[in-house]
Amino acid sequence: MNEQDIKEIKALLATPKRIVIVPHKNPDGDAMGSTLGLCHYLIKNNHKALVIAPNDYPDFLKWIPGQDQVIIHESDRTKAESLIENADIIFTLDFNALHRAGDMETGLANSKAIKIMIDHHQQPDSYADYMFSDITMSSTCEMIYRFISMLGDTAAIYDQIATCLYAGILTDTGSFRFSSTTSTTHLVTADLIAKGADHSEIYNAIYDTNSYERLQLLGVALKNLNVLPEYRTAYITLTQEELNAANFRKGDTEGFVNYGLSIKNIIFAVIFIEHKQEGIIKISLRSKGDFSVNEFSRENFGGGGHTNAAGGKSDLGLNDTVEKFISILPRYKHTLNS
Ligand code: 5GP
Ligand code: MN
Repeated sequence: MNEQDIKEIKALLATPKRIVIVPHKNPDGDAMGSTLGLCHYLIKNNHKALVIAPNDYPDFLKWIPGQDQVIIHESDRTKAESLIENADIIFTLDFNALHRAGDMETGLANSKAIKIMIDHHQQPDSYADYMFSDITMSSTCEMIYRFISMLGDTAAIYDQIATCLYAGILTDTGSFRFSSTTSTTHLVTADLIAKGADHSEIYNAIYDTNSYERLQLLGVALKNLNVLPEYRTAYITLTQEELNAANFRKGDTEGFVNYGLSIKNIIFAVIFIEHKQEGIIKISLRSKGDFSVNEFSRENFGGGGHTNAAGGKSDLGLNDTVEKFISILPRYKHTLNS
């Protein structure tokens, strides 16, 4: 996004517009924080802005300011499609390819609205009229702060915007521990706190609202943890039966994959979660250092993401997927041990 782009976007936003803001499917903290943060900002600037999410998001995000106004495409399709069709501007946040918006893909592709992408994932597609893509950024929330700053308007960031953006930075940086966290991230965060984000309250709302069942499920996941020291790899499996027994709710498995990475000398951690209804195994991959799980997922499991955090899926059964995974590892042995 260059100066000319910013000039044009400023001109666009100078008069009230109908604006739709879209996060990726299975929205996470960064996706919801960035879309809602931007939404508050645009509403304050007299636009008719709203967030349409492809599908529902976890309970631990159901406190973010403005989240009760979010339209869920999956359960309100007609209304969502009409809003997309009639939008002047569509922001797509925290994803790099339209298929990541799930069933919203076609509506978004067909829409005549001006599209603005703000995202930090690798290898972005070029569907947008304006593209703010930066893979070095900790989070899309940090980029929204940067975007508002490029518009010369950080003074307009009030407590609700600050809270949304802080929440997404907190979750996408793994509470500021991932290597994507920079000094600028901390400067942005400091300003968000100064502008009214209550860091302690936000942390509690996201991380200290576990259900008993979720902790039981974590126990099962940790029991299922396998370590492959020769590949510096650890993986976890969860069957649909295990999920059902723990009364699984969306978001319950968030963060489980990181436990593998907490083992000494392990730099590659994966969780395989069975989704019987969709007929797929959802895969989450994490790494430390230079080992790219984005590449690994792209090459083997049709997914992608970032160097140290990616997702993917498999339509083999759970056992076959794990078998495939183990059979692939020798090809990466050298990289994993270098
Ligand atoms: P998670 O494992 O938490 O679902 O996702 C980790 C990261 O990878 C997130 O940034 C997410 O947006 C991205 N990601 C997850 N699943 C997919 C996928 O199927 N394809 C691509 N390209 N990215 C994904
Ligand atoms: Mn993100």
